[in-house]
Amino acid sequence: MREGSHVIVLPFPGQGHITPLSQFCKRLASKGLKPTLILVSDKPSPPYKTEKDSITVFPISNGFQEGEDPLQDLDDYMDRVETSIKKRLPELIQDMKLSGNPPKALVYDSTMPWLLDVAHAHGLSGAAFFTQPWLVSAIYYHVFKGSFFVPSTKYGHSTLASFPSFPMLNANDLPSFLCESSSYPNILRIVVDQLSNIDRVDIVLCNTFDKLEEKLLKWVKSMWPVLNIGPTLPSMYLDKRLSEDKKYGFSLFTAKSTECIEWLNSKQPSSVVYVSFGSLVILNEDQMMELATGLKQSGCFFLWVVRETETNKIPKNYVDETGEKGLIVSWSPQLEVLAHKSVGCFLTHCGWNSTLEGLSLGVPMIGMPHWTDQPTNAKFVEDVWKVGVRVKAEADGFVRREEIVRCVGEVMEGEKGKEIRKNAEKWKVLAREAVSEGGSSDKSIDEFVSMVC
Ligand code: UDP
Repeated sequence: MREGSHVIVLPFPGQGHITPLSQFCKRLASKGLKPTLILVSDKPSPPYKTEKDSITVFPISNGFQEGEDPLQDLDDYMDRVETSIKKRLPELIQDMKLSGNPPKALVYDSTMPWLLDVAHAHGLSGAAFFTQPWLVSAIYYHVFKGSFFVPSTKYGHSTLASFPSFPMLNANDLPSFLCESSSYPNILRIVVDQLSNIDRVDIVLCNTFDKLEEKLLKWVKSMWPVLNIGPTLPSMYLDKRLSEDKKYGFSLFTAKSTECIEWLNSKQPSSVVYVSFGSLVILNEDQMMELATGLKQSGCFFLWVVRETETNKIPKNYVDETGEKGLIVSWSPQLEVLAHKSVGCFLTHCGWNSTLEGLSLGVPMIGMPHWTDQPTNAKFVEDVWKVGVRVKAEADGFVRREEIVRCVGEVMEGEKGKEIRKNAEKWKVLAREAVSEGGSSDKSIDEFVSMVC
């Protein structure tokens, strides 16, 4: 390998995308590459160095002025981001070439498949990075190919879909947009389009690891040049081989770290239910009320992340009445929390990062999926990896307080909980092995490095 070879890494501007791609940069830097991480935001700024100068971070414009609300219209947002990147990225590549630091490859978020042509037009290899697992991408691929019929309604179907190497899936195990396509046509288009040019991609990276999706591995590898490089958690939570800058990481939110950890320190081992729905999910007021009541009735301690925009949905006096039993914060240091010995289970929306984090840290899970790929991830958590349970929702998707109490009891105390804890421990070891020296993901990263140098 030529020391200091340069690659550009470009995540989609969302927390669940920036986190895995920026962690991947660290792994690349540890192998001697010099990544430039391009962050798309409404606050462009000059580049700066991080991780002992091994990574250059370059914030560029998302096409919005400060103060404009980018989330008003998804199509407009995607268009402006695309226009802005297509203008700025070629200029940056040109500058890099002129300064004697030409990039060899563009690692781009698979939700922006048009970046493959930008890479090729400038003589770079194009590496699509999928932040969702194969179990979801495979479904989108079948939809893209037209080999899967998308049902028009979500409910009323029993066993509905059978994909190669999958358990049978019911309608409510599928990524939500497939069934609700009429409500979210633009999101359906974005997720399915990720697979639109995969046959031309030079390298396909995925934040998963071989053993986790073993049954799909043969199929995806026979189709595309796939390298599974996950889980992309910081090394300090897995193989502990990298000396990391603790501050590195790009969070769009500010975590209440000390408050969470001090509170957890005061609790018994495995006594706390950690509750988080990630950065995007919005529960309606009735569901928040029901969840709040269910958590209280479970009798367990709970640490609940309620983002600032959601706090008005927490019942009045709830925090006072709950007292020492519960702590509500607007954002947590999730990895530190999941790694804490007081946490006994993770009630999660099953976003892929959260699912991988729970799995890699050996924390039993309660899946309460909301939309996108979350139902499919939750299905695998319960039925394939057997590291948790999934709440049973009513026909309209509502989850009753009794169901929350039942699931917490089952995972924290029940016989099934013991089995789940055993499996969670097993997956924790396998995740660590994957990124440790000579593990499957470690070798894949080496292979990526030799392919682009
Ligand atoms: N996260 C966090 N603190 C919180 C809630 C979430 O650090 O209080 C992080 C979490 O560790 C994960 C990411 O935010 O890395 C959420 O990504 P995920 O794919 O789980 O869900 P999304 O936000 O994309 O729905």
